[in-house]
Amino acid sequence: MNSHVLGFPRVGSQRELKRGVEKFWKGQLSEKELVLIAEELKEKHWAMQSRLDMVATGDFSFYDQMLDTIAMLGAVPPRFEWDGKEIGLDTYFKMARGDASKNIPAMEMTKWFDSNYHYIVPEFTQGMTFKQSTSEQIETVRHAKACGYIPKPVLIGPITFLMLGKEFDGCNRWNYLDAIIDVYVNVLRELTEETEWIQIDEPVLCLDLPEEAKKAFSKAYNKLSKAVSGSHLLLATYFGELADNLDLTMSLPFDALHVDLVRGGNELKSVINSLPVGRLLSLGVVDGRNIWKNNLKATLELIKPAVDELGEDKLMIASSCSLLHSPVDLEFETELPLELRDWMAFAVQKCEELAVLRDAVNGCDVSSRLTANADSMAAREKSSLRVNLDVRAAAAGITPQMMQRESPFEKRIEEQKAWLKLPVFPTTTIGSFPQTTEIRKTRLDFKKGNIDKAQYEEAMQQEIRHVVDEQDKLGLDVYVHGEPERNDMVEYFGQQMNGFCFTKNGWVQSYGSRCVKPPIIYGDVSRPEAMTVDWIKYAQENSSKPMKGMLTGPVTILCWSFERDDLSREDICRQIALAIREEVLDLEAAGIKIIQIDEAALREGMPLRASQRDEYLQWAVDCFRITSSGVGDDTQIHSHMCYSEFNTIAKWIAKMDADVISIEASRSGMDLLQAFKDFEYPNDIGPGVYDIHSPRVPSEEEIYELLKKAVKVIKPARLWVNPDCGLKTRDWPETRASLVNMVAAAKKLRQEFS
Ligand code: GLN
Ligand code: ZN
Repeated sequence: MNSHVLGFPRVGSQRELKRGVEKFWKGQLSEKELVLIAEELKEKHWAMQSRLDMVATGDFSFYDQMLDTIAMLGAVPPRFEWDGKEIGLDTYFKMARGDASKNIPAMEMTKWFDSNYHYIVPEFTQGMTFKQSTSEQIETVRHAKACGYIPKPVLIGPITFLMLGKEFDGCNRWNYLDAIIDVYVNVLRELTEETEWIQIDEPVLCLDLPEEAKKAFSKAYNKLSKAVSGSHLLLATYFGELADNLDLTMSLPFDALHVDLVRGGNELKSVINSLPVGRLLSLGVVDGRNIWKNNLKATLELIKPAVDELGEDKLMIASSCSLLHSPVDLEFETELPLELRDWMAFAVQKCEELAVLRDAVNGCDVSSRLTANADSMAAREKSSLRVNLDVRAAAAGITPQMMQRESPFEKRIEEQKAWLKLPVFPTTTIGSFPQTTEIRKTRLDFKKGNIDKAQYEEAMQQEIRHVVDEQDKLGLDVYVHGEPERNDMVEYFGQQMNGFCFTKNGWVQSYGSRCVKPPIIYGDVSRPEAMTVDWIKYAQENSSKPMKGMLTGPVTILCWSFERDDLSREDICRQIALAIREEVLDLEAAGIKIIQIDEAALREGMPLRASQRDEYLQWAVDCFRITSSGVGDDTQIHSHMCYSEFNTIAKWIAKMDADVISIEASRSGMDLLQAFKDFEYPNDIGPGVYDIHSPRVPSEEEIYELLKKAVKVIKPARLWVNPDCGLKTRDWPETRASLVNMVAAAKKLRQEFS
């Protein structure tokens, strides 16, 4: 039985790639120097896979693997004025980042399935042509061979490429199927001479597929399998079960099929039964999406039916998906408590796990390794760090009443209006104000011990007073304290709750050169003491305007952390919900009677398959309601969500029963308002009136026009006026200018409605 990973993280254990790429962008590094860094990283990462039977190639990327595929196919959008020659770093990075000097916008970016990785979205327009325009795949294969490795090139498959792109100007993506396949055929012909296995990723086989895609699969793979005739085609599926695509998948002419047994373990029997005779099965058993040690004994039991039925020479063992989504090396985590560290495995350790599993199946003596692993598992099982009986009891004691506000919205809003006395179309912001270098430095100084707590608090209070002052000048209606004390909306809360730990170097690529270091939830979650009350109380004491308390919601905290694998997502989320509920109640008791609970990630936490979504949305909404429902009728609960695709989940957002929601809308020209024609959202809503992701200052007129559109579908009494999202990434001058215009637009509209 062979072992392999579907891909390896590319950023480097010390984020070498990030540093290199950013220097290159600033002109501090030549193209040659950057390429050298890349070559070194590739070699390092192959060395880290050297205990496996082949190493992944073609998985390295300067920015994103979808962008690499766009480049390989020569699918450069016309606005980049590409000369049609071999695509170099210049055109490549322009597609990713736009060309500011010529005002050419970058290509769009979106989340890769349900992960926090973002890919560049292929654009399909009329009249496109395709031709092979990079030779990265074959060159890397040769490079790996020259280093003495057995390379296994990894490519994004043509159907996944087509499915994940976006159609413009009435273009139909499927018209390009043949042309794209032709390029793949060329690339594969080159590779087949040099390799034994070629991996083609088609994760869309784990999604609900339209008919066209199904048809395209058969057509494409009949051609591709011929092109790899000298080698072997490994068709890789991941991120879920094949389910209703099982028959389609099995009908394709692959030599080996990879399945994700971490998410699709229940399907193994039917996969084995329907696998055509003579084909190989690659068992994705080591979780590429998480940081926990594999339970080797359990894994060997899981795959036993495959070993028995197919025999080890018809099997491969692998990571569930690419290791792109896990940090590189646990070795560097010298500050984690040893007990916790022993529960974890990063990419390097995951490769080793695969080698041990392979050896075990192949009959080598790895008993000492298996025993050590079993000891770790037993220690974790028994550990007091994992379980807190009080938390378990509290979670078990959640009642339906705890998810229910005292009165319906119509009654609550009257009580809130009575004391708030807000004008029609009230103005507010989403929470954060610009995080200046000075603020960041103060936080860092405090962390490093360069300044003491008193100095730190004084500096933050000063910033809060500043933010209050700015809001006075702007004439906003509902204030915020500005969040200067927060580095990150999830980390800030995780650091103050039990059950979370943090790594020094557990970086995972989020997009391009941007990496995140997600908190790790290892045990039952509880809140030892108030986390935000002092700051917000201080802000309220410094203003007579209503101050909005700012919290991150349970679903978002869950989605942006590495979650424990010994408790269901739902159960973890309910624990977090209870902890944040306590914070809500403490804020209310401290006199903060507007509280915003951000659920930026609610939508991205949705399962990939439509059939599983309602179940998720039900518990996710329940968790929000656990958090928000303990307050009195006259306390106003807000929530903020960072996306505009409102239509499909409008019903569920309504079920959250927040008194006020703010939602992204400006980038889509308020497309979301269409949803209100189909579904009348019952409570108050603030569709974002300008895009905070760009430094551009929107004019008063422009905002006014958007608001005019909004009042056509939203009752004036229900409409709030606010930006799209928090302002922390912006500068003060543009923030002031934008908000001045926003407030002016709201006032203008008010005159018409009074
Ligand atoms: N309250 C947060 C902020 O303003 C919300 C951020 C977000 O939605 N991503 O920064
Ligand atoms: Zn947002």
